[in-house]
Amino acid sequence: MTHRFDALILGGGAAGLMCAIEAGKRQRRVAVLEHADRLGKKILISGGGRCNFTNIRCQPENFLSSNPHFAKSALARYTPADFIALVEKHRIPYHEKTLGQLFCDRSAGDILGMLEQECQSAGVSIFLNTKIRAVSRAEEFVVHTANAEFQAPALVVATGGLSITKIGATSFGYDMARQFGLKIRPPRPGLVPLVLESDDRSRYCDLSGVSAEVVASCDGQQFREKMLITHRGLSGPAILQISSYWDKPQSIKIDLAPGSDLTAIFRDPKTPRTLTTLRSELRKALAARLADRWLDYHAPASWTNAALADFEQQAHGWAITPAGTEGFEKAEVTCGGVDTDELSAKTMESRRVPGLFFIGEVVDVTGHLGGFNFQWAWASGAAAGRAL
Ligand SMILES: Cc1cc2nc3c(=O)[nH]c(=O)nc-3n(C[C@H](O)[C@H](O)[C@H](O)COP(=O)(O)OP(=O)(O)OC[C@H]3O[C@@H](n4cnc5c(N)ncnc54)[C@H](O)[C@@H]3O)c2cc1C
Repeated sequence: MTHRFDALILGGGAAGLMCAIEAGKRQRRVAVLEHADRLGKKILISGGGRCNFTNIRCQPENFLSSNPHFAKSALARYTPADFIALVEKHRIPYHEKTLGQLFCDRSAGDILGMLEQECQSAGVSIFLNTKIRAVSRAEEFVVHTANAEFQAPALVVATGGLSITKIGATSFGYDMARQFGLKIRPPRPGLVPLVLESDDRSRYCDLSGVSAEVVASCDGQQFREKMLITHRGLSGPAILQISSYWDKPQSIKIDLAPGSDLTAIFRDPKTPRTLTTLRSELRKALAARLADRWLDYHAPASWTNAALADFEQQAHGWAITPAGTEGFEKAEVTCGGVDTDELSAKTMESRRVPGLFFIGEVVDVTGHLGGFNFQWAWASGAAAGRAL
């Protein structure tokens, strides 16, 4: 059996659904082909089940890409306000949690339900449990599945990145790019916990669960947020953010007590220069267990001004060289992907292969933590949907 459409969208996640809605609203006959048994599984688990669906402070600077200008056009033409208008039209209650991050009050199911309803109103055809065997292109694109063939002059690849294979992530999008001769920036895990080298692990990881507000920096970027010690390394928003900029064998710097002058008290000549005094100063900035552990390994060599200055410097610039990351199984996103040089920034269409589009996470555009990855999915999906 052959199904004919104006456009085929491979992948029914955030980007694919937004693309289908925009194209459907413009009377295009579109089909979404999804291999899972339901749409938007990642949306459902996002934001701890509440979906951090956008960020009202979204700027191009919140995205990593080998071409930092690429995302600007799509982001400017589909903004957080556009998505919020959709959320409000569906009367979905939401709140700002912190730093401009918008979350559902009830559950991520509200966002998926909204997208499904919009697809229905726009006349989008959805095919679930659809395993794609091959894609070919003669005059049109032909998608071969187990039971049918789908044919259309336009094909949109919206199959996401490699993060979390157990809910359906595949390398399909990269395979498609290769098949059609498009360059790929090597995919790597982003927004991912870091694993420490064995020495650091034995020093700190029994403190698993302890957190601190830190500034984590690497590769010219820095983030002031919470860091969490895990049983294998470090996590928490500051570490997840910086992980997207980290690659072996770089090191990461952590300011454990941003803004605190830990040794200021010793400038008063009446203050005794003792470990007890230093411990109580450090405990004002850090959880007691972490403060004590830090002193176990970094107590000043003596009580001279120079030794105290050295202690201060180390606490504000803990240099660690992670052994690696927790990998795609724990990564919230995939950095790298289809090279943006291959795509039109306005429409996401391939420059080499007319009619072939790539949107969402499969493209070499990765957002910071905080709703930016969904905003890219909506914006790139809308850009392609308006061009179909
Ligand atoms: C645990 C977790 C929490 C997250 N929380 C947030 C958050 O709160 N805010 C935020 O902005 N971002 C969050 N993200 C990131 C965000 O979910 C993704 O960036 C976003 O979903 C990417 O959208 P996409 O449409 O490109 O890909 P996806 O949403 O991954 O959709 C891809 C779709 O393609 C389907 N597919 C894959 N391979 C095939 C194939 N071969 N054939 C057919 N279909 C296929 C998949 O089943 C899936 O439905 C989170 C990610 C994770 C893993």
